[in-house]
Amino acid sequence: MPDPDTAVRRVTGHFRSLTGRSPDGVWAAPGRVNLIGEHVDYNGGLCLPFALPHRTLVALSPRSDDRIRLTSAQIRPVPDARGATRAATWRGSLGEIAPGRSPGWVGYAAGVAWGLRRLGFDVPGFDAVVDGHVPLGSGLSSSAALECAVAVALDEVAGLGADPSQLAEACIAAENEIAGAPTGGMDQTAALRCRAGHALLLDTRDGSVEHLSLDLAAAGTELLVIDTRARHSLVDGQYGSRRAMCEQAARILGVTTLREVDDLAAALDRLPHDEMRRRVRHVVTEIERVRRTADLLSSRRLGELGPLLDASHASLRDDYEVSCPELDLGCSVAREAGASGARMTGGGFGGSAIALVETGRTEAVAGAVTAAFAARDWAAPAFLRAVPSDPAGRVR
Ligand code: ADP
Ligand code: MG
Repeated sequence: MPDPDTAVRRVTGHFRSLTGRSPDGVWAAPGRVNLIGEHVDYNGGLCLPFALPHRTLVALSPRSDDRIRLTSAQIRPVPDARGATRAATWRGSLGEIAPGRSPGWVGYAAGVAWGLRRLGFDVPGFDAVVDGHVPLGSGLSSSAALECAVAVALDEVAGLGADPSQLAEACIAAENEIAGAPTGGMDQTAALRCRAGHALLLDTRDGSVEHLSLDLAAAGTELLVIDTRARHSLVDGQYGSRRAMCEQAARILGVTTLREVDDLAAALDRLPHDEMRRRVRHVVTEIERVRRTADLLSSRRLGELGPLLDASHASLRDDYEVSCPELDLGCSVAREAGASGARMTGGGFGGSAIALVETGRTEAVAGAVTAAFAARDWAAPAFLRAVPSDPAGRVR
């Protein structure tokens, strides 16, 4: 991620070349890692994400009509039929945004305006330029960073006065209904409500949050993010089928969500097949691991987190079956190279893992993972250091 001033200058310059004017402002929202509590946000569960320093910037001005112009620095211009390069600017109007009609990246950004309008807010047309520094499709939630940056920008320029839960709702609507990715609400809430130096204990049953101090440096540890570069797609049905099976299990058990299951053994006895039993066991045990992790954070015992991270990964790999060879190898090599624990983070099927590593040991762990990937002729993984950072807001 470039330094903040450079990032702001870059997106502002891009906006000027699109519109000939300076933007009304620049807003940013962070990517996130989830320390623990995976695939539980759509089950009324608990999760524990924190914001990354890596952010997506949006330079934006409202318009006096209902038109929208959107450009992203991460979307390459495409050659048209005559071979000329067509700028990757999407032009449309507020009325055109609808489920099934705004595919691809535009749905994540313009969909937020649709989500806000559905909540009754009077959103104007707008010009916006996006410049993201959260790697796309790496499980670090570039999608929510994009949505939330647009949301806080529209909220401010149009004086909507939306509260954080309404902004989150509009962003989730953009992702689920316009972009067509059936994810839960953790990522958007994390981007909007995390705090620097803290992890966010989010209870997705009622949307309540608690900020738990996460001072990794004081505990002599670092969290290394291993971006495996294996790409997942949440729109391809795997995520949706997991979610649907959880909802089916909840119906069989007569509960609103799997969060309400308190006797796991009794619940498992009532489920019709092994696959469903394993999915439910993951969700119920993962929520319990989040509780134990939150207790360790509250009592500043970060040194004891490792086994919980490892158990979470095993459960996602074996019971929920959302890991992949790259994530499994990244985690096991990190552990062998000295990490006290490691797990996949985000939706899975590729993307990133996190490893808890003693300060000063991250280079060695990253080197071991790189070597193991090279030995298999896999694309080189990328690394970043996760430091709990600021939520979405105005940066200029
Ligand atoms: P993740 O959220 O883990 O990065 P997703 O598959 O949920 O992965 O979201 C990635 C998608 O979000 C991209 O394929 C693209 O459509 C959209 N997106 C995210 N950031 C940007 C950006 N800076 N510019 C354009 N589209 C983006
Ligand atoms: Mg995403």
